[in-house]
Amino acid sequence: MAKQFDTVVKGGTIYTATDTYVADIGIKGEKITAIGMNLQAAGADVINARDLQVIPGGIDPHVHLQLPFCGTVSSDDFYTGTRAAACGGVTTVLDFAGQGTHDNLMAGIEARMKEARDKVVIDYSLHTMVTGFKKLKNPLKEFQRLMEFGVASHKMFMIYEREGWNATDDDIFGAMLAAQEVGATLCMHAESEKVMNYLVGMALKKNLGAYGHVVSRPNFIEEEAIQRAIKWASATGAHLYVVHMSTGGGAQLFKEAQAKGINVHVETCPQYLVLNDEVFKDKKTGHYYATCPQIKKKEDCERMWKGLQDGEVAVVSTDTCTFTTKQKAMWNGDFTRIPFGMPGVETLLPSVYSFGVRGGKFSLNHFVSLIATNPAKIMGMYPQKGTIMVGSDADLSIIDPDESRIIDYKKLASNCDWSPFQGWKLYGFPKFTLSRGTVLVRNGKFDEKAGRKGRGRFVKRGPFGWRNLSRPWYVPDHKPQVPAELFGEGAKSDNSGRKRAAVGV
Ligand SMILES: [Zn+2]
Repeated sequence: MAKQFDTVVKGGTIYTATDTYVADIGIKGEKITAIGMNLQAAGADVINARDLQVIPGGIDPHVHLQLPFCGTVSSDDFYTGTRAAACGGVTTVLDFAGQGTHDNLMAGIEARMKEARDKVVIDYSLHTMVTGFKKLKNPLKEFQRLMEFGVASHKMFMIYEREGWNATDDDIFGAMLAAQEVGATLCMHAESEKVMNYLVGMALKKNLGAYGHVVSRPNFIEEEAIQRAIKWASATGAHLYVVHMSTGGGAQLFKEAQAKGINVHVETCPQYLVLNDEVFKDKKTGHYYATCPQIKKKEDCERMWKGLQDGEVAVVSTDTCTFTTKQKAMWNGDFTRIPFGMPGVETLLPSVYSFGVRGGKFSLNHFVSLIATNPAKIMGMYPQKGTIMVGSDADLSIIDPDESRIIDYKKLASNCDWSPFQGWKLYGFPKFTLSRGTVLVRNGKFDEKAGRKGRGRFVKRGPFGWRNLSRPWYVPDHKPQVPAELFGEGAKSDNSGRKRAAVGV
């Protein structure tokens, strides 16, 4: 008799964003092909999941592996970074492809894929980084071409003028108009460049060390930019996704915008939930914690946990951008020269599991929505990724709820000589991680042979799948405000529905 499955996950408790039940999962090749009781396991690799929690593999929609920044390159590359991800139960990451000096976005995607291809251990996808919008000959065609290729989201920066990356209001507006025509998502780094630079100038005179990073970016720097980005999304009808939100006030703005039916989503990161800006006061290590935006206050952490509970904050990502202590030392006392970023993808699930689920803030099902299902839907990968169902990729993270670890950077897979969570006790590390059916982590240990370099694949994504989302505020009943007369034939009667129907979500 031919074996029915290659792998059977036996007797675990399955948690999706909506359901909890005990069942076996049958995997054939790369897919989940059956879910049920007493699946035929003859000849299969049997994973005993009794008393374990079986969840979809984590999706981190925001990492920067081997990113050139501040005259150095982030120390986790596409191999060490995706290996670390697997060790933390993450099975898909989304990185970014810079536009560079090109007059198109595809060249950057191709270059980045070349860098990633032979190194990735898990599946990955890419957002573009639109750092020269005015150089694009035809943004609409460009976004269309990328959508067909499977790149459904584009990032813009409202800051980084010095680096030549920043998008001005007209760039953002133009990009949003084009993005909404093809159903693409505009990802936004929202901070207010001009006022921030003014404050940076003031802070530099005060000799505050790494704490200068804090006083030069008070909450209104992020809040004003979020407000502006939401305004343009409201006017154009584009789907806006603000990345790495750090302020409680920002969460409030999203709550209000979503209540009006404006098509906007937002993510935050563990560093903005479990750390606060006291860390910058340490003269020796303060600068390690510099991220962009910076870590804020306790009240902000609390407001964002609330946002995660209530739903206006839909995703926890990491903004992983690993720099070693040696790289961080390049700041030389000037807080504007710190390579921004920290390791994170490996501790994403454990940190949110420990403080969110075990901390009593939300259920394990809700946790699954935040770290897998919502990012999959918002980024156009659902239901191939982000859930456990027949036909989905066999991406699983299997957790022993009683097992904890004391974080020690020496034992983490990330290529880094420090951890923001050094010495912390965290639960939620995977006992098993499966990526498209391959067992990458077995009994808590990474399988070097199974997890070979380059086995990961590029995930082709589709338009923003709002029809798939179950929350009522995902229904875009908001009417854009750009005058219909500015658009072509047929646009006049229904400005809100302009070509959206053609997208096929
Ligand atoms: Zn980032």
